[in-house]
Amino acid sequence: MIEFQSVHKQYGNGTVAVQDLSLTVEAGTITVLVGPSGCGKTTLMRMVNRMIDPSSGSVLLDGTDIRERDPARLRRGIGYVIQQAGLFPHRTVLDNVATVPRLFGNSRRDARRRAAELLERVGLPNDLGKRYPVQLSGGQQQRVGVARALAADPPVLLMDEPFSAVDPVVRADLQDELLRLQDELGKTVLFVTHDIDEAIKLGDRVAVLRQGGYLAQYAAPDDLLAE
Ligand code: ADP
Ligand code: ADP
Repeated sequence: MIEFQSVHKQYGNGTVAVQDLSLTVEAGTITVLVGPSGCGKTTLMRMVNRMIDPSSGSVLLDGTDIRERDPARLRRGIGYVIQQAGLFPHRTVLDNVATVPRLFGNSRRDARRRAAELLERVGLPNDLGKRYPVQLSGGQQQRVGVARALAADPPVLLMDEPFSAVDPVVRADLQDELLRLQDELGKTVLFVTHDIDEAIKLGDRVAVLRQGGYLAQYAAPDDLLAE
């Protein structure tokens, strides 16, 4: 469970990105942060893995203030998926994913086995593992990004507009895949998008943010008020 308690963020240049925002993300659910560009979604998400610290207020993970945790350990329990998958260009697809279990001290062989399982799990054909990221479509690269984020089996996944750069048909596929994975794995997912339809499709809970970093609504998709 992730709790934002009265978090506020003002950047060095004076921009207020998040204003006195409180929100609880229940464990094992997909919570979507939705709103127009610049409303503070990324800022809020990056507070969870401490890429950004709030100016005031706190973020709790399973009841503990994240400032009391070792940042490296904290991040190991948090998978992070971004819009342009962020793969290592000079490593094969399989090695991109295997890198993570290797970092945790698994043998090369075990790491590759785990990577192959994960690639299958996110719906990639086996033979793509030998290719390099540029040889994959945008949608396939995003799948690799998801596989890599899952490689450490983190309880928490942060997903920042992961499907926004792919065409609508592929996006719908990726969304279905995420819902299927979520059924199997039950991660605590914080998902950022500016697309309300995507938010409604994916979210167990949807947090609607407004320009200036205000929380306008926080509800199950069926209970969102029309605007
Ligand atoms: P979103 O993810 O909803 O697009 P962001 O969290 O990226 O919003 O940004 C919220 C606001 O904070 C925007 O006005 C943005 O320009 C500003 N901002 C983001 N990062 C920084 C930064 N490092 N320094 C100053 N302002 C920033
Ligand atoms: P995103 O797709 O995450 O919204 P942006 O293109 O808005 O990314 O920002 C890219 C980077 O620049 C981020 O690290 C963000 O925090 C930072 N940034 C965004 N807006 C500003 C700003 N107004 N001043 C300084 N840095 C900013």
